[in-house]
Amino acid sequence: MIIFKSARRLQNHLAKLKEIDNKIGFIPTMGALHKGHISLIQKSVSENNYSVVSIFVNPTQFDNQHDLVSYPNNIENDIKLLDRISDNLILFNPDLDQIYTGKIISDVYNLGDLDKYMEGKFRKDHFQGVATVVHKLFDIVDSDNVYLGEKDFQQLRIIEELVLKSAFSLKIIRCKTIRDKNGLALSSRNKKLDISSQNIASNLFKALSFANENFNKKSIDKIYSEVESFFSVFPQIKVEYFLIADEENLKPVEVKKKEKKYRAFIAADISGVRLIDNLKLY
Ligand code: AMP
Repeated sequence: MIIFKSARRLQNHLAKLKEIDNKIGFIPTMGALHKGHISLIQKSVSENNYSVVSIFVNPTQFDNQHDLVSYPNNIENDIKLLDRISDNLILFNPDLDQIYTGKIISDVYNLGDLDKYMEGKFRKDHFQGVATVVHKLFDIVDSDNVYLGEKDFQQLRIIEELVLKSAFSLKIIRCKTIRDKNGLALSSRNKKLDISSQNIASNLFKALSFANENFNKKSIDKIYSEVESFFSVFPQIKVEYFLIADEENLKPVEVKKKEKKYRAFIAADISGVRLIDNLKLY
């Protein structure tokens, strides 16, 4: 695997590959790789001639300094994992100055109402930071395909809209959430939880599954109130939000419509670690 820290060198290398019509896939990550990331990478490897994985912890998307400083970082292990996947992988692991040439601040994006609820409401300017870094990375890599996880569904929708409104000609590929046996969605942040907290965290998925099982049987308010009482017996779980929202425009549902598709979304703090998850409702 070739590793680049310089954006210019990466671009020179990719230009040569593109000259002979190689298809390029791109998987942006913040590292501390797990099987969720690996599934995206494997999909890209199977659908493209070369795949670029970026590992860059983007400061502008963190609203909380402590969260940024304590974000798991294990680059040696990440390199070992990536090395085993394919010879056609390229790692882009830039320092801050390769991405932010001037001040380390977000640009301003019009995200419509997509950042109004859920993560957008609870993490101030988070999605401005995400949009900024994604735009910069997409410019540098200029890939044919980009692989993003449904685990961060609001982020996925926002990036899809960003691409739609921009001059990027790339295709966004949605990838399924990979979970532990107990349902807990894999996340780099899970590494900050001990085993007992990870088991407690699996209740997030239980609540989402409850919403799925009852979506066509009970009213939204009834689902919300039963989910609230479900969590009341877990003092370790502090739910920030539990919402059922339209999959397309991400607005919390008021009246269910047959032609619409919905998802349940949750964010919660477990022993000081903030986790998010979501599930499609059928
Ligand atoms: P991150 O490193 O957390 O920024 O995630 C990088 C990419 O991996 C994003 O597109 C995430 O949505 C995706 N991802 C993270 N966790 C999972 C998971 N458990 N299953 C599938 N994709 C995931």
